[in-house]
Amino acid sequence: TETRRCMGSSIAHWAAKTPDNMAIDCPSGQLSYAELDKAATDYARALTGAGFKKGDRICWLGKNSGLYFTLFAAASRAGMVIAPIGWRLAAPEVAYVLKDTQAPLLICEPGFASVAKQAAAEAGTQQILCTEAVDGLQSLADWRDETAPGELSETDSAEGVLQLYTSGTTGNPKGAVLSSDNLFKLRPLVEDHPDHAWIDLKSGDSTLAVMPCAHIAGSGIGPIAMYNGATMMVIPEFTPDAVLDCIDKGLNQFFLVPTALQMLVSVPRAQETDFSKLRSVTYGAAPIPLELLRQCIKTMPNALFCQQYGMTETTGTVCILPPEDHDPEGNERMRGIGIPLPSVELKIVDENHQEVPPGTIGEIATRSGLNMLHYFNNPEKTAETIDADGWLYTGDAAIMDEDGYFYIKDRVKDMIISGGENVYPAEVENAIFGHPQVNEVAVIGIPDPKWGEAVKAVVSPKPGVEEIDAESVIAWARERIAGFKVPKSVDVIAELPRNASGKILRRELRAPYWEGQDRGVN
Ligand code: ATP
Ligand code: MG
Repeated sequence: TETRRCMGSSIAHWAAKTPDNMAIDCPSGQLSYAELDKAATDYARALTGAGFKKGDRICWLGKNSGLYFTLFAAASRAGMVIAPIGWRLAAPEVAYVLKDTQAPLLICEPGFASVAKQAAAEAGTQQILCTEAVDGLQSLADWRDETAPGELSETDSAEGVLQLYTSGTTGNPKGAVLSSDNLFKLRPLVEDHPDHAWIDLKSGDSTLAVMPCAHIAGSGIGPIAMYNGATMMVIPEFTPDAVLDCIDKGLNQFFLVPTALQMLVSVPRAQETDFSKLRSVTYGAAPIPLELLRQCIKTMPNALFCQQYGMTETTGTVCILPPEDHDPEGNERMRGIGIPLPSVELKIVDENHQEVPPGTIGEIATRSGLNMLHYFNNPEKTAETIDADGWLYTGDAAIMDEDGYFYIKDRVKDMIISGGENVYPAEVENAIFGHPQVNEVAVIGIPDPKWGEAVKAVVSPKPGVEEIDAESVIAWARERIAGFKVPKSVDVIAELPRNASGKILRRELRAPYWEGQDRGVN
């Protein structure tokens, strides 16, 4: 029978089988499976011994580290749920998440001690521990040593074990509760489909935790690596050098977002690096420019490339552009998000959640064992997002072609209806992007008595550009897209508002224009 019910018991499983294999390799040191199992078990006993209860949320405010993943495993052995908070967030945003989790315990790194204290005071959090004794905070290790060990109380594979907050692009961040079953699901998917070599990860292989642990791309790799008895290299924060150091050590696979890939292949060191041990490069979370993708394939010619689409609520990836659809020259399919993973259902639906024919734009809905359990303490939002048949509505507008390949248009909430025509901001933004004076661009709908909504572009100037000529932006767009999509007006601001994941917050740009009016979708 399966003994790997959660990350903690996966580690125990490999500690018995391959005790000396390296589980975690991070700048602060290396942990074998035996060492990691002992560390996670000690913390698990401290958590229950200190009186924290089954189902309690344990918050982490820090970068990626071996200790974070140790605590993740410990929480799962103690019947608790780890909830990492984005370290780029400001104190009030941290307080929002802390309060939402109702966590009795916040564990922080020294660099975030003052933010942690401020946020915990605002949220009424009982206890803060720090990975080092600073600012009057007790150190995590001292606390563990002083706490009488309690009993282990392992989380069942179907129960919540990881609570991740969405990026807050379309509204307040929501706490998606994920189970070990969610997190391990990729494994059986791949065992049944040996052709999916891009994700293949065996005992002795190595993978990389590099995206921030508050995101699924950062945390999700932990359970997968530990389930498979592989080595997880952990980088506190992305830098090209840190990734190339791992490549030099023989890294087998990684996931990076397009902006990180861009930085990686741009450094001169990348041209001299031996990528021959790298078997697969997975990338996604945002669209990738075709030119960049071609450059990456050239730099890492032996790796299988796989694009990934997904969201926090689907435990990350549900849709992939498989390696065989990549070619070094670039093709149309490389502009899309590809096809659903095996055993994942994906369809395009209209406003009434009815499936539409190929070629028609609608919202992506998905159903699989990867869908989250629910949003924490939010049955209304959960019911809005997942229907009684288990379909999860993503909020992403897309089309499916005749061959079953999906192409993202934009967020449903950001779609502009102008004079009865649907306008997708992303398309308009792409058209404006090359304008010589424009650095960044966001397109929004504003109320308009004649058109219902009118298309507006908000742009920021390139460094050194004194003034952007609004008429020239409009003229630039008119040469490239249909008339009804062309902005009627242009605002110029110094910098566009973004959230911690770097996504532009169109809702903040819209807000002043919609004060006191209902937009239908917010
Ligand atoms: P919130 O739900 O709080 O508004 P968010 O949706 O940005 O925030 P995430 O779960 O981090 O939070 O991001 C998921 C979204 O990222 C998807 O719904 C989609 O819009 C976008 N996305 C993910 N992968 C891709 C991809 N490969 N190509 C294009 N867009 C992607
Ligand atoms: Mg979302």
